Amino acid sequence: MSDPLVRIEGLTKRFGAVAAVDDVDLDVVGGELFALLGGSGCGKTTLLRLLAGFETPDAGRILIDGKDMTGVPPHLRPVNMMFQSFALFPHMNVAENVGYGLRREGVAKPEIATRVADALAQVQLTDFAQRRPTQLSGGQRQRVALARALVKRPRLLLLDEPLAALDRKLREGTRFELVRLQEELGLTFIMVTHDQEEAMSMATRLAVMKAGRIVQTGAPREVYERPASRFVADFIGLANILEVPEGRWMALRPEKVALFAARPDTAHACAGRITDIAYEGSRSLCRVALDDGRTMLAAMTDDAFRRGQNVWLGWAADAGHPLEA
Ligand code: ATP
Repeated sequence: MSDPLVRIEGLTKRFGAVAAVDDVDLDVVGGELFALLGGSGCGKTTLLRLLAGFETPDAGRILIDGKDMTGVPPHLRPVNMMFQSFALFPHMNVAENVGYGLRREGVAKPEIATRVADALAQVQLTDFAQRRPTQLSGGQRQRVALARALVKRPRLLLLDEPLAALDRKLREGTRFELVRLQEELGLTFIMVTHDQEEAMSMATRLAVMKAGRIVQTGAPREVYERPASRFVADFIGLANILEVPEGRWMALRPEKVALFAARPDTAHACAGRITDIAYEGSRSLCRVALDDGRTMLAAMTDDAFRRGQNVWLGWAADAGHPLEA
């Protein structure tokens, strides 16, 4: 890996008795779209705020481009943050909102005009420059917030749940747009999300957090296919967690489990009854009550079986992934 743009070393932040961020080490390379993923309260936002300089760590340090950020105030860091709420000024039009930070820094007027025009073009809002935020859709407001962050040409852009304020349909389109911009402009993004699908579909790498700690880091496919622990297997996508000999555990994704009318000659097979079927478009997810009392999930890509039917489940010898914890 080339020299990291961001290096986090032994970073800890406590609020009273709670270690919101607990001894975190992490490197992020320039050009990555890195996602911090985890449930509510796991410390994602606190980690982002530490990077931005809005919080001071109790221990550890952050290096950006090799420079120690300890004691460097937010406005002097090569970092910009896009907030969940977008925080646009209602009394300013789009161009004024985007140029606000530059005006405050005392950048010369002609340069502000050029940079605002560039940023609006990047997010395809040139024609909306004179509108007020209230005259825009949620997706357009999101793009204004993005333009306002981009106009400062940060080395690193921090995004706190960037798509949370958008409805589902818009969210999907905007995912692609954010990835396209990040790639085209050669930017580095660190994004916080609690939505595993969003993290998986957008990120070049992601970190799964739990109680202030990073429990696994890797490319989305790596983390999905080789979860390190029961927690990660359960958090990222759906998994059957099976006990295997010697008190060890294994994750088996539903799509690795096939349904059969009679006992299959797969490496593993067990009989049961379908108790629920959830149609998901490209597949249906079947919940099967096994004869031995366990419950398993299996993916069905046709509609060969019905609820209440007795079936066999079968999977290959290498279908499961052993878990460390
Ligand atoms: P969410 O997805 O719900 O926003 P998160 O992963 O971003 O969660 P954080 O906001 O980083 O979580 O919070 C981590 C922990 O630190 C939580 O237990 C939270 O209650 C606590 N915490 C965060 N900020 C403060 C604060 N200013 N004062 C006291 N406790 C705080």
